[in-house]
Amino acid sequence: MKKKIYLDYAATTPVSSEVFKVMKPYFFQDYGNPSEPHLWGQKARFALDKARQKMADFLGAKPQEIIFTSGATEAINLAHKGVVEAMFQQSAKNKEYRTKGKLPHIITSQIEHKAVLETCKHLEKLNWAKVTYLPVDKDGLVDLRVLEKAIRPETVLVSVMYVNNEVGTIQPIEEMTQLLKAISSQLKAKIYFHTDAAAVAEYLTLDVKKLGVDLMTLGSHKFGGPKGVGILYLKKLTQIDPLTFGGHHERGLWPGTEAVPLIVGMAEALRQAQGELTDTNKRVSRLKDKLIKGVLEKIPETILTGHPEKRLADMASFCFKGAEGEAILLRLDAEGIAASSGSACTSGTLQPSHVLLAMGIPAEIAHGSIRFSLGRETTEEEIDYVLEKLPKIIKEIREMAPKL
Ligand SMILES: *Cc1c(COP(=O)(O)O)cnc(C)c1O
Repeated sequence: MKKKIYLDYAATTPVSSEVFKVMKPYFFQDYGNPSEPHLWGQKARFALDKARQKMADFLGAKPQEIIFTSGATEAINLAHKGVVEAMFQQSAKNKEYRTKGKLPHIITSQIEHKAVLETCKHLEKLNWAKVTYLPVDKDGLVDLRVLEKAIRPETVLVSVMYVNNEVGTIQPIEEMTQLLKAISSQLKAKIYFHTDAAAVAEYLTLDVKKLGVDLMTLGSHKFGGPKGVGILYLKKLTQIDPLTFGGHHERGLWPGTEAVPLIVGMAEALRQAQGELTDTNKRVSRLKDKLIKGVLEKIPETILTGHPEKRLADMASFCFKGAEGEAILLRLDAEGIAASSGSACTSGTLQPSHVLLAMGIPAEIAHGSIRFSLGRETTEEEIDYVLEKLPKIIKEIREMAPKL
Protein backbone atom coordinates (compact mmCIF):
# COMPACT_ATOMS: atom_id res chain seq x y z
CA MET A 1 0.00 0.00 0.00
CA LYS A 2 1.17 3.48 -0.82
CA LYS A 3 2.34 5.50 2.15
CA LYS A 4 0.48 8.61 3.24
CA ILE A 5 2.64 10.93 5.28
CA TYR A 6 1.28 14.28 6.31
CA LEU A 7 4.00 16.80 7.18
CA ASP A 8 2.04 19.99 6.65
CA TYR A 9 0.63 20.57 10.14
CA ALA A 10 1.52 24.27 9.91
CA ALA A 11 -1.04 24.56 7.09
CA THR A 12 -3.74 22.77 9.05
CA THR A 13 -4.20 19.96 11.57
CA PRO A 14 -6.71 17.12 11.89
CA VAL A 15 -9.49 17.30 14.47
CA SER A 16 -9.04 14.61 17.13
CA SER A 17 -11.87 12.22 17.93
CA GLU A 18 -12.22 13.76 21.43
CA VAL A 19 -12.65 17.22 19.93
CA PHE A 20 -15.20 15.92 17.44
CA LYS A 21 -17.05 14.14 20.23
CA VAL A 22 -17.56 17.28 22.31
CA MET A 23 -18.72 19.24 19.25
CA LYS A 24 -21.23 16.71 17.98
CA PRO A 25 -24.19 17.33 20.37
CA TYR A 26 -24.23 21.01 19.39
CA PHE A 27 -25.00 20.08 15.79
CA PHE A 28 -27.78 17.58 16.53
CA GLN A 29 -29.44 18.05 19.95
CA ASP A 30 -28.39 21.31 21.56
CA TYR A 31 -28.50 23.30 18.36
CA GLY A 32 -30.30 26.35 19.78
CA ASN A 33 -29.42 29.96 19.12
CA PRO A 34 -27.56 31.17 22.23
CA SER A 35 -29.39 34.50 22.12
CA GLU A 36 -32.81 32.84 22.65
CA PRO A 37 -34.20 32.50 26.16
CA HIS A 38 -35.77 29.03 25.75
CA LEU A 39 -34.22 25.74 26.80
CA TRP A 40 -32.39 25.16 23.49
CA GLY A 41 -30.98 28.67 23.55
CA GLN A 42 -29.95 28.39 27.18
CA LYS A 43 -28.09 25.13 26.58
CA ALA A 44 -26.16 26.74 23.73
CA ARG A 45 -25.49 29.85 25.84
CA PHE A 46 -24.19 27.70 28.68
CA ALA A 47 -21.84 25.84 26.29
CA LEU A 48 -20.63 29.11 24.82
CA ASP A 49 -19.92 30.61 28.25
CA LYS A 50 -18.14 27.45 29.34
CA ALA A 51 -15.96 27.43 26.21
CA ARG A 52 -15.10 31.09 26.70
CA GLN A 53 -14.14 30.47 30.33
CA LYS A 54 -12.04 27.44 29.36
CA MET A 55 -10.14 29.41 26.71
CA ALA A 56 -9.68 32.37 29.03
CA ASP A 57 -8.19 30.05 31.68
CA PHE A 58 -5.59 28.69 29.26
CA LEU A 59 -4.64 32.19 28.12
CA GLY A 60 -4.57 33.65 31.64
CA ALA A 61 -7.26 36.10 30.51
CA LYS A 62 -10.73 37.11 31.62
CA PRO A 63 -13.69 35.61 29.72
CA GLN A 64 -14.84 39.05 28.53
CA GLU A 65 -11.42 39.53 26.91
CA ILE A 66 -12.06 36.67 24.46
CA ILE A 67 -13.79 37.60 21.18
CA PHE A 68 -14.79 34.66 18.99
CA THR A 69 -14.26 35.22 15.26
CA SER A 70 -14.42 33.16 12.05
CA GLY A 71 -10.69 32.47 12.08
CA ALA A 72 -7.24 33.95 12.56
CA THR A 73 -7.33 36.01 9.36
CA GLU A 74 -10.55 37.72 10.39
CA ALA A 75 -9.30 38.27 13.95
CA ILE A 76 -6.12 39.86 12.54
CA ASN A 77 -8.14 42.18 10.29
CA LEU A 78 -10.35 43.13 13.23
CA ALA A 79 -7.34 43.85 15.46
CA HIS A 80 -5.51 46.12 13.02
CA LYS A 81 -8.40 47.90 11.38
CA GLY A 82 -10.23 48.09 14.70
CA VAL A 83 -7.38 49.86 16.52
CA VAL A 84 -6.90 52.39 13.72
CA GLU A 85 -10.62 53.16 13.44
CA ALA A 86 -10.94 53.64 17.18
CA MET A 87 -8.01 56.09 17.03
CA PHE A 88 -9.86 58.09 14.39
CA GLN A 89 -12.90 58.33 16.63
CA GLN A 90 -10.76 59.53 19.50
CA SER A 91 -8.89 62.16 17.48
CA ALA A 92 -12.20 63.43 16.04
CA LYS A 93 -13.51 63.89 19.58
CA ASN A 94 -10.30 65.20 21.07
CA LYS A 95 -8.41 67.80 19.03
CA GLU A 96 -5.39 67.55 21.31
CA TYR A 97 -5.06 63.87 20.53
CA ARG A 98 -1.50 62.78 19.77
CA THR A 99 -2.12 61.84 16.16
CA LYS A 100 -3.55 65.31 15.35
CA GLY A 101 -2.44 66.33 11.88
CA LYS A 102 -0.67 62.97 11.54
CA LEU A 103 -1.93 59.57 10.61
CA PRO A 104 -1.81 56.80 13.22
CA HIS A 105 1.40 54.81 12.80
CA ILE A 106 1.69 51.01 12.79
CA ILE A 107 4.92 49.06 13.12
CA THR A 108 5.03 45.49 11.88
CA SER A 109 7.65 43.18 10.35
CA GLN A 110 8.40 42.20 6.78
CA ILE A 111 7.91 38.51 7.56
CA GLU A 112 4.35 38.64 8.89
CA HIS A 113 1.61 36.45 7.48
CA LYS A 114 -0.23 37.98 4.53
CA ALA A 115 -3.26 38.53 6.79
CA VAL A 116 -1.24 41.17 8.66
CA LEU A 117 0.69 42.56 5.70
CA GLU A 118 -2.32 42.94 3.41
CA THR A 119 -4.43 44.54 6.17
CA CYS A 120 -1.64 47.06 6.79
CA LYS A 121 -1.33 47.76 3.06
CA HIS A 122 -5.07 48.30 2.86
CA LEU A 123 -4.94 50.81 5.73
CA GLU A 124 -2.16 52.66 3.89
CA LYS A 125 -4.19 52.66 0.69
CA LEU A 126 -7.20 54.13 2.50
CA ASN A 127 -4.80 56.73 3.88
CA TRP A 128 -5.85 55.78 7.41
CA ALA A 129 -2.40 54.85 8.67
CA LYS A 130 1.33 54.97 8.02
CA VAL A 131 3.10 51.66 8.32
CA THR A 132 6.73 50.74 9.01
CA TYR A 133 7.72 47.22 7.94
CA LEU A 134 10.70 46.21 10.07
CA PRO A 135 13.50 44.21 8.47
CA VAL A 136 14.70 40.94 10.04
CA ASP A 137 18.14 39.36 10.30
CA LYS A 138 19.27 36.25 8.41
CA ASP A 139 17.58 34.00 10.98
CA GLY A 140 14.30 35.88 10.80
CA LEU A 141 14.58 37.80 14.09
CA VAL A 142 13.39 41.37 14.60
CA ASP A 143 16.10 43.47 16.27
CA LEU A 144 14.82 45.27 19.38
CA ARG A 145 16.99 48.31 18.66
CA VAL A 146 15.52 48.60 15.18
CA LEU A 147 12.03 48.36 16.68
CA GLU A 148 12.87 51.06 19.23
CA LYS A 149 14.16 53.42 16.52
CA ALA A 150 10.97 52.99 14.47
CA ILE A 151 8.68 54.23 17.26
CA ARG A 152 7.19 57.71 16.77
CA PRO A 153 4.90 59.81 18.98
CA GLU A 154 1.96 58.79 16.77
CA THR A 155 2.72 55.04 16.89
CA VAL A 156 -0.49 53.35 18.02
CA LEU A 157 0.13 49.69 17.25
CA VAL A 158 3.07 47.30 17.06
CA SER A 159 2.28 43.94 15.47
CA VAL A 160 4.93 41.22 15.45
CA MET A 161 4.17 37.53 15.00
CA TYR A 162 4.99 35.15 17.88
CA VAL A 163 6.40 32.52 15.51
CA ASN A 164 6.88 32.67 11.77
CA ASN A 165 4.78 30.09 9.97
CA GLU A 166 7.26 29.44 7.16
CA VAL A 167 10.55 29.04 9.03
CA GLY A 168 9.49 28.69 12.67
CA THR A 169 11.62 31.50 14.13
CA ILE A 170 10.37 32.55 17.60
CA GLN A 171 10.38 36.30 18.29
CA PRO A 172 11.31 37.70 21.73
CA ILE A 173 7.75 38.82 22.51
CA GLU A 174 8.32 39.40 26.24
CA GLU A 175 11.35 41.63 25.58
CA MET A 176 9.33 43.60 23.05
CA THR A 177 6.60 44.09 25.65
CA GLN A 178 9.14 45.46 28.15
CA LEU A 179 10.54 47.86 25.57
CA LEU A 180 7.11 49.09 24.50
CA LYS A 181 6.03 49.58 28.11
CA ALA A 182 9.09 51.71 28.84
CA ILE A 183 8.62 53.84 25.73
CA SER A 184 4.86 54.14 26.28
CA SER A 185 5.43 55.62 29.71
CA GLN A 186 8.09 58.05 28.37
CA LEU A 187 5.72 59.19 25.63
CA LYS A 188 2.75 59.10 28.04
CA ALA A 189 0.80 57.39 25.28
CA LYS A 190 -0.29 53.80 25.04
CA ILE A 191 1.20 51.74 22.21
CA TYR A 192 -0.88 48.62 21.70
CA PHE A 193 1.00 45.39 21.05
CA HIS A 194 -0.53 42.65 18.91
CA THR A 195 0.94 39.24 18.26
CA ASP A 196 -0.21 36.76 15.63
CA ALA A 197 -0.01 33.51 17.60
CA ALA A 198 -1.68 31.36 14.95
CA ALA A 199 1.21 28.93 14.63
CA VAL A 200 2.10 28.19 18.24
CA ALA A 201 -0.69 26.77 20.44
CA GLU A 202 0.65 23.21 20.55
CA TYR A 203 4.20 24.29 21.44
CA LEU A 204 4.51 27.54 23.40
CA THR A 205 2.78 29.26 26.30
CA LEU A 206 -0.12 31.50 25.36
CA ASP A 207 -0.27 33.13 28.79
CA VAL A 208 -1.12 36.73 27.91
CA LYS A 209 0.04 38.02 31.30
CA LYS A 210 3.47 36.50 30.78
CA LEU A 211 3.64 37.69 27.18
CA GLY A 212 2.24 41.10 28.12
CA VAL A 213 0.43 41.67 24.83
CA ASP A 214 -2.74 43.76 24.41
CA LEU A 215 -4.09 41.84 21.45
CA MET A 216 -3.43 38.27 20.34
CA THR A 217 -5.02 36.24 17.55
CA LEU A 218 -5.45 32.47 17.14
CA GLY A 219 -7.03 30.18 14.57
CA SER A 220 -8.50 26.91 15.82
CA HIS A 221 -7.54 24.64 12.92
CA LYS A 222 -3.80 25.13 13.57
CA PHE A 223 -4.05 23.33 16.93
CA GLY A 224 -6.43 20.43 16.38
CA GLY A 225 -9.68 22.38 16.35
CA PRO A 226 -12.19 22.78 13.51
CA LYS A 227 -11.76 25.23 10.63
CA GLY A 228 -13.80 28.43 10.49
CA VAL A 229 -13.30 29.69 14.04
CA GLY A 230 -10.66 31.69 15.89
CA ILE A 231 -10.25 34.26 18.60
CA LEU A 232 -9.10 37.76 19.24
CA TYR A 233 -7.79 38.25 22.76
CA LEU A 234 -8.46 41.87 23.60
CA LYS A 235 -7.04 43.14 26.87
CA LYS A 236 -9.40 45.16 29.05
CA LEU A 237 -9.51 48.87 28.08
CA THR A 238 -8.12 48.23 24.59
CA GLN A 239 -10.28 50.33 22.29
CA ILE A 240 -11.22 48.87 18.93
CA ASP A 241 -14.06 49.35 16.45
CA PRO A 242 -15.87 46.44 14.75
CA LEU A 243 -15.39 45.39 11.11
CA THR A 244 -18.97 44.23 10.68
CA PHE A 245 -22.29 45.45 12.04
CA GLY A 246 -25.43 43.81 13.33
CA GLY A 247 -26.29 42.53 16.78
CA HIS A 248 -24.50 42.96 20.08
CA HIS A 249 -22.77 39.59 20.07
CA GLU A 250 -19.17 39.41 21.26
CA ARG A 251 -19.39 42.89 22.80
CA GLY A 252 -20.54 44.25 19.44
CA LEU A 253 -17.16 43.37 17.91
CA TRP A 254 -18.32 40.25 16.08
CA PRO A 255 -22.05 40.53 15.45
CA GLY A 256 -23.80 37.38 14.25
CA THR A 257 -24.98 34.07 15.63
CA GLU A 258 -22.03 32.39 17.31
CA ALA A 259 -20.66 29.15 15.80
CA VAL A 260 -21.40 27.18 18.97
CA PRO A 261 -20.21 23.69 17.84
CA LEU A 262 -16.98 25.11 16.40
CA ILE A 263 -16.31 27.22 19.48
CA VAL A 264 -16.88 24.25 21.79
CA GLY A 265 -14.47 22.20 19.64
CA MET A 266 -11.86 24.94 19.63
CA ALA A 267 -11.92 25.24 23.43
CA GLU A 268 -11.39 21.49 23.82
CA ALA A 269 -8.59 21.55 21.23
CA LEU A 270 -6.86 24.35 23.11
CA ARG A 271 -7.17 22.39 26.35
CA GLN A 272 -5.49 19.41 24.72
CA ALA A 273 -2.81 21.47 22.99
CA GLN A 274 -1.84 23.51 26.03
CA GLY A 275 -2.29 20.60 28.43
CA GLU A 276 0.16 18.42 26.52
CA LEU A 277 2.68 21.16 25.75
CA THR A 278 5.78 19.64 27.38
CA ASP A 279 5.14 16.17 26.07
CA THR A 280 4.39 17.33 22.49
CA ASN A 281 7.47 19.54 22.44
CA LYS A 282 9.75 16.75 23.55
CA ARG A 283 8.42 14.19 21.12
CA VAL A 284 8.05 16.42 18.05
CA SER A 285 11.31 18.27 18.67
CA ARG A 286 13.30 15.03 18.65
CA LEU A 287 11.81 13.96 15.32
CA LYS A 288 12.31 17.44 13.86
CA ASP A 289 15.99 17.39 14.91
CA LYS A 290 16.39 13.98 13.32
CA LEU A 291 14.86 15.23 10.07
CA ILE A 292 17.01 18.35 9.97
CA LYS A 293 20.21 16.44 10.75
CA GLY A 294 19.42 13.76 8.19
CA VAL A 295 18.56 16.20 5.42
CA LEU A 296 21.67 18.34 5.99
CA GLU A 297 23.89 15.23 6.07
CA LYS A 298 22.41 13.47 3.06
CA ILE A 299 21.69 16.36 0.71
CA PRO A 300 24.51 18.70 -0.33
CA GLU A 301 23.94 22.39 -1.05
CA THR A 302 21.07 22.62 1.40
CA ILE A 303 20.32 25.55 3.68
CA LEU A 304 18.32 25.26 6.88
CA THR A 305 16.10 28.37 6.93
CA GLY A 306 15.06 30.13 10.13
CA HIS A 307 16.84 30.38 13.46
CA PRO A 308 18.98 27.31 14.34
CA GLU A 309 17.78 27.24 17.99
CA LYS A 310 14.98 29.75 18.50
CA ARG A 311 12.59 27.77 16.33
CA LEU A 312 9.29 26.05 16.90
CA ALA A 313 9.57 22.32 17.68
CA ASP A 314 7.61 21.28 14.58
CA MET A 315 9.42 23.18 11.84
CA ALA A 316 12.04 21.80 9.47
CA SER A 317 12.40 24.26 6.59
CA PHE A 318 15.04 24.20 3.89
CA CYS A 319 16.20 25.69 0.63
CA PHE A 320 17.66 23.22 -1.86
CA LYS A 321 19.95 25.02 -4.29
CA GLY A 322 19.24 24.31 -7.94
CA ALA A 323 15.93 22.54 -7.28
CA GLU A 324 12.55 24.18 -7.69
CA GLY A 325 10.18 24.04 -4.69
CA GLU A 326 7.04 23.24 -6.67
CA ALA A 327 8.81 20.42 -8.50
CA ILE A 328 9.99 18.95 -5.19
CA LEU A 329 6.46 19.15 -3.79
CA LEU A 330 5.01 17.26 -6.76
CA ARG A 331 7.62 14.52 -6.47
CA LEU A 332 7.05 14.25 -2.71
CA ASP A 333 3.31 14.07 -3.32
CA ALA A 334 3.86 11.23 -5.77
CA GLU A 335 5.63 9.38 -2.93
CA GLY A 336 2.68 10.09 -0.61
CA ILE A 337 4.42 12.84 1.36
CA ALA A 338 2.64 16.15 1.98
CA ALA A 339 4.88 19.17 2.61
CA SER A 340 4.66 22.83 1.63
CA SER A 341 6.79 25.26 -0.32
CA GLY A 342 6.37 27.75 2.50
CA SER A 343 2.94 29.16 2.88
CA ALA A 344 -0.37 28.17 1.37
CA CYS A 345 -0.99 31.84 0.75
CA THR A 346 2.10 32.41 -1.38
CA SER A 347 2.53 29.04 -3.03
CA GLY A 348 0.82 28.77 -6.35
CA THR A 349 1.96 32.24 -7.35
CA LEU A 350 5.56 31.09 -8.10
CA GLN A 351 6.78 34.21 -6.33
CA PRO A 352 9.60 33.41 -3.94
CA SER A 353 8.47 33.70 -0.32
CA HIS A 354 8.52 37.25 1.08
CA VAL A 355 9.78 35.76 4.33
CA LEU A 356 12.88 34.20 2.78
CA LEU A 357 13.61 37.32 0.72
CA ALA A 358 13.36 39.48 3.88
CA MET A 359 15.89 37.13 5.52
CA GLY A 360 18.31 37.99 2.72
CA ILE A 361 18.08 34.69 0.86
CA PRO A 362 18.59 35.35 -2.88
CA ALA A 363 15.46 34.80 -5.02
CA GLU A 364 16.97 31.92 -7.02
CA ILE A 365 17.70 30.00 -3.81
CA ALA A 366 14.38 30.95 -2.21
CA HIS A 367 12.66 29.23 -5.15
CA GLY A 368 13.93 25.92 -3.76
CA SER A 369 12.19 26.21 -0.40
CA ILE A 370 10.37 23.34 1.29
CA ARG A 371 8.73 23.35 4.70
CA PHE A 372 8.09 20.14 6.60
CA SER A 373 5.91 20.81 9.62
CA LEU A 374 5.49 17.91 12.01
CA GLY A 375 2.61 17.24 14.33
CA ARG A 376 1.44 15.26 17.31
CA GLU A 377 0.77 12.21 15.14
CA THR A 378 4.12 12.21 13.32
CA THR A 379 6.11 8.98 13.77
CA GLU A 380 9.75 8.00 13.55
CA GLU A 381 8.98 5.70 10.58
CA GLU A 382 7.54 8.64 8.68
CA ILE A 383 10.70 10.67 9.18
CA ASP A 384 12.82 7.67 8.11
CA TYR A 385 10.73 7.34 4.96
CA VAL A 386 11.23 11.03 4.07
CA LEU A 387 14.97 10.69 4.67
CA GLU A 388 14.98 7.71 2.32
CA LYS A 389 13.03 9.38 -0.51
CA LEU A 390 14.03 13.05 -0.39
CA PRO A 391 17.76 12.80 -1.29
CA LYS A 392 16.91 10.87 -4.45
CA ILE A 393 14.17 13.34 -5.42
CA ILE A 394 16.45 16.36 -5.02
CA LYS A 395 19.26 14.65 -6.93
CA GLU A 396 17.00 13.82 -9.87
CA ILE A 397 15.47 17.30 -10.03
CA ARG A 398 18.91 18.87 -9.95
CA GLU A 399 20.08 16.61 -12.77
CA MET A 400 17.08 17.56 -14.89
CA ALA A 401 17.39 21.30 -14.25
CA PRO A 402 19.05 23.25 -17.08
CA LYS A 403 22.61 24.19 -16.16
CA LEU A 404 23.17 27.94 -16.17
C1 LIG B 1 -2.56 30.12 9.36
C2 LIG B 1 -2.05 31.43 9.81
C3 LIG B 1 -2.84 32.60 9.73
C4 LIG B 1 -4.22 32.60 9.10
O1 LIG B 1 -5.07 31.69 9.67
P1 LIG B 1 -6.46 31.28 8.99
O2 LIG B 1 -6.91 30.19 9.82
O3 LIG B 1 -6.14 30.86 7.59
O4 LIG B 1 -7.34 32.46 9.01
C5 LIG B 1 -2.30 33.76 10.18
N1 LIG B 1 -1.06 33.81 10.71
C6 LIG B 1 -0.28 32.72 10.81
C7 LIG B 1 1.07 32.85 11.43
C8 LIG B 1 -0.74 31.49 10.37
O5 LIG B 1 0.05 30.42 10.47
